[in-house]
Amino acid sequence: MNEAYDVVVVGGGAAGLSGAVTLARARRSVLVVDARRPRNAPAGHVHGYLGREGTPPGELLATARAELAGYGGEFAVGTVTSAAKDGEGFVVVVETADGGARELRTRRLLVTTGLVDELPEVPGLAERFGKDVLHCPYCHGWEVRGRRVGVLATGPVAWHHAELWRQWSDHVIVLRHGVEVPDAVQAERLAARGIHVTDGPVASVEADADHLTGVRLASGEFVPLDALVVATRMTARAGLLDSLDLRPVPVEFGGEVVGSRVPADPTGATEVPGVWVAGNVADVSAQVVVSAAAGLRAGAMINADLVAADTRDAVEAYRELQRTHFEQDAWEDRYRSRPTLWSGNPNPQLVAEAASLAPGRALDVGSGEGADAIWLAARGWQVTGTDISTVALARAAEHARAAGGQIADRITWSHADLRDAPPANGGYELVTAQFMHLPTGPRRAVFAALADAVAPGGTLLIVGHHPKDKRDGGGPGVYLDMMYTPEQVAADLDPARWEIRAETRARQAVDPDGKEITVHDAVVAARRR
Ligand SMILES: Cc1cc2nc3c(=O)[nH]c(=O)nc-3n(C[C@H](O)[C@H](O)[C@H](O)COP(=O)(O)OP(=O)(O)OC[C@H]3O[C@@H](n4cnc5c(N)ncnc54)[C@H](O)[C@@H]3O)c2cc1C
Repeated sequence: MNEAYDVVVVGGGAAGLSGAVTLARARRSVLVVDARRPRNAPAGHVHGYLGREGTPPGELLATARAELAGYGGEFAVGTVTSAAKDGEGFVVVVETADGGARELRTRRLLVTTGLVDELPEVPGLAERFGKDVLHCPYCHGWEVRGRRVGVLATGPVAWHHAELWRQWSDHVIVLRHGVEVPDAVQAERLAARGIHVTDGPVASVEADADHLTGVRLASGEFVPLDALVVATRMTARAGLLDSLDLRPVPVEFGGEVVGSRVPADPTGATEVPGVWVAGNVADVSAQVVVSAAAGLRAGAMINADLVAADTRDAVEAYRELQRTHFEQDAWEDRYRSRPTLWSGNPNPQLVAEAASLAPGRALDVGSGEGADAIWLAARGWQVTGTDISTVALARAAEHARAAGGQIADRITWSHADLRDAPPANGGYELVTAQFMHLPTGPRRAVFAALADAVAPGGTLLIVGHHPKDKRDGGGPGVYLDMMYTPEQVAADLDPARWEIRAETRARQAVDPDGKEITVHDAVVAARRR
């Protein structure tokens, strides 16, 4: 177990495992904590699960656990004893299999703890529950079709059960065990269907080594039977939600309370934000396949909720980045964080474009640690290197001095934010901006000012990361909407004033992991007419 998950699923039955597989397949970190007491454990087979008819319950869950593990989901045996709010998420306390206790953090909670079948207290009954003491005709009716079926009538719902089970057998007998005699209308319905009613109460359930043989009435009479139908009281296992003030509500059937469930909307969302329920804890009538489906739906809804939260957080972070990333403090921090940020080599597109130009006055925008300015100065240019970071400028000046010759004398270092302090109009034979990425609005304004700074006959050289690299699945750590194509940059230049070349150039580079990759530069080289 880790200490923090996107989702902790409490309960590893059909509902929980199905929800967990859905979440793991959605690339969420998910842990299922399970006390390993699924409701149908006493039964030999699962019926009514399309495609898996007759599978032993344990086998179905083992297969599901393997599927979960295959997608990276985790499973732990234990009991969740409480859950408490922790910001937007929860702290969950787990009693582990070895008796220890563990605290986990989770962003969302899926509770699939099932229900407890409370059985009528009749000696010998509990031992045979799930074998030939049965509660559900859809689970077991086919297996006892045409056999002698007794219905233990502990409440008025027994009349409904008797009529229902009559579909599976002609030999249905109602054993009155605390319920009044049927009224005239009900008695007629039972008579019409050939259902016998006997007085009780039932004193004991009788069986030989392997099978139910019948029931003994308090009168001493023995009623031979092959199956006994009971109405269990189906109580939601929801104690762990007490700490979140999430309480089960009664479930009524035919005017009788037959159990309880944790209230939720059709997707499983409860009134406590971040808590979903699925399976029998939310729906006493859900069979295995229905529970699995509810788990799947809840899992998908939880993922959607997390996607919404992730997007909200990303927007906040993005706004914060837009607000701070392009400001001086952020650049100073970035340069201070490492002794060297850049390679120290001049940018390849600058070398390709400027090598053939006659030296004059050059403006190197975002001059960084100075490699481009130094390369230009070495070729005889009078360079103004401008940057928003004083740390970068100091480093660049030091590199220029170290380069020797007249290089340092040919460079003026200028501390400026070009958004507030545009360069002098027509002041340069070359203006170069390499990999300057800003939000679109400020970027277009700065590039327009750079274009104005080019003298007649001079060159504007703008090079950036092409968005193609990002779209193709790689690319630098620049937001896609701050990248640009050469055509986008060129579209802002007036062809009447500029001779424009706008090209996408591939070149080899090395990614942060040291791997050789191909990147694409957006290159605009424009000569002012
Ligand atoms: C005898 C019997 C036979 C049945 N036969 C069939 C059948 O043939 N076909 C069919 O479709 N349906 C059948 N059912 C119904 C079936 O059992 C349920 O539909 C199904 O089990 C519901 O799945 P679930 O995931 O909601 O709950 P469960 O399968 O009950 O799983 C809940 C899990 O949560 C765990 N848990 C509970 N509390 C905690 C906690 N605090 N911390 C950690 N874990 C916890 C439990 O130990 C359990 O493992 C049968 C039911 C019974 C009683």
